[in-house]
Amino acid sequence: MSSAASSSKTDDAAALRRSRILSSPLYYDVPPSKVPLIYSSSYDIAFFGIEKLHPFDSSKWGRICRFLTKEGIMDQKHVVEPVEATKDDLLVVHSESYLKSLNSSLNVSMIIEVPPVAMLPNCLVQKKVLHPFRKQVGGTILAAKLAKERGWAINVGGGFHHCSSEKGGGFCVYADISLCIHFAFVRLNISRVMIIDLDAHQGNGHEMDFSDDRRVFILDMYNPGIYPLDFEARRYIDLRVEVKSGTATDEYLTKLDHALEVAEKRFDPDFIVYNAGTDILDGDPLGRLKISPDGIASRDEKVFRFARERSIPLIMLTSGGYMKSSAKVIADSIVNLSNKSLIDMKS
Ligand SMILES: [Zn+2]
Repeated sequence: MSSAASSSKTDDAAALRRSRILSSPLYYDVPPSKVPLIYSSSYDIAFFGIEKLHPFDSSKWGRICRFLTKEGIMDQKHVVEPVEATKDDLLVVHSESYLKSLNSSLNVSMIIEVPPVAMLPNCLVQKKVLHPFRKQVGGTILAAKLAKERGWAINVGGGFHHCSSEKGGGFCVYADISLCIHFAFVRLNISRVMIIDLDAHQGNGHEMDFSDDRRVFILDMYNPGIYPLDFEARRYIDLRVEVKSGTATDEYLTKLDHALEVAEKRFDPDFIVYNAGTDILDGDPLGRLKISPDGIASRDEKVFRFARERSIPLIMLTSGGYMKSSAKVIADSIVNLSNKSLIDMKS
C-alpha cells in the first residue's frame, strides 16, 4: 500500500471512531441529585452456581454497595445507573473480528477462565456474562464525564486492564479503560491522561492500546512474577514500579509516594484513570502481596489526594481483587475518602 493510501485509511478510521463516539448514548446528563458513584444491579454475575467454580467473588460489586448503604454513606436512589455499551460503542476500540470471537462460548470461557462456560449456549453467555460486563464498560465511560463535571467519580465495577483492542484475557473481556479514554479525548476536551494502575497485575491491555500514544502516561505498580508476564507490553509503561511477592504495607506505600512524586515531574495530566485493584491484599492467592486493609485505604487516599489537590478530575475503577473480604475493604476505603473530605457522598 502507498503511504498516501495508508494515511487516508487511518484518517477514515479516525473519522469513523469520532462519529461513533459522538453518536453514542453512553454519555447522558446526570441530574445533580445523584452522586458520582456508578453502579447497576446487573453488574453482578451469578447463574446456576457456576460462579462458585471461579476463585472470584463475582458479586463483589453489589456487596460493596450494600456495605456502603449499611454504613449510611450511600442511598441507593442517588447512585448513577449506566447505560450498557452497544456494539457500536465497543467498535470504538475493538475490531469486528474480536467482537465476533465472543460469539464462541469456548472463547469467552478462556478469557474469563471459567472452563464450564464453554458448554453453555452462547445466548446464555451473552445474557449472564457479557451483558454485566458491557454495563460495567458503560459505567467506566460515563465516569469520565461525571469526573469532569464533579471532580471525581467511582465506577463500582470496571478496570478490565488485561483486555486490549484485539485480545481479552485474565477475566477481562472488554477494554473499558481504552474506551473511556478515547471518549474523553473526543467529548471532554481532554488531551493528557495519566493511568495510575495499582492492581497487583500488570495492565497489559491499556499498555498495548496506548503503546505509541504520547497523550497517555502510564504508571504501573505491579508484581512482576505473576500473570500476565507480558514483556512486550512492559516496554510501553512510562513509569514502572515492581513490587515483588511478599511486599508488605509500609514498603508498598513508600514506593507509591515516590512513584507519584516522579510521575508528577514527568507528566502534567488533565485527567487521571485510577485502576484500584484490591488483589494486593494480604492473602490474595493471585496477587501474592501482603497489603493490609488499612494499607488499601491509605493507598486510595494518596491517589485521591494527589488528584484532588491539583484539581485533576479522576475516576476510580475497582478492577481485580475478588476474595470474599475485598468488597468490605473497598467499601471501608470509600468511607475513609468521604471522612477525609476527598469525596462528597451527599447529593
Ligand atoms: Zn489483578
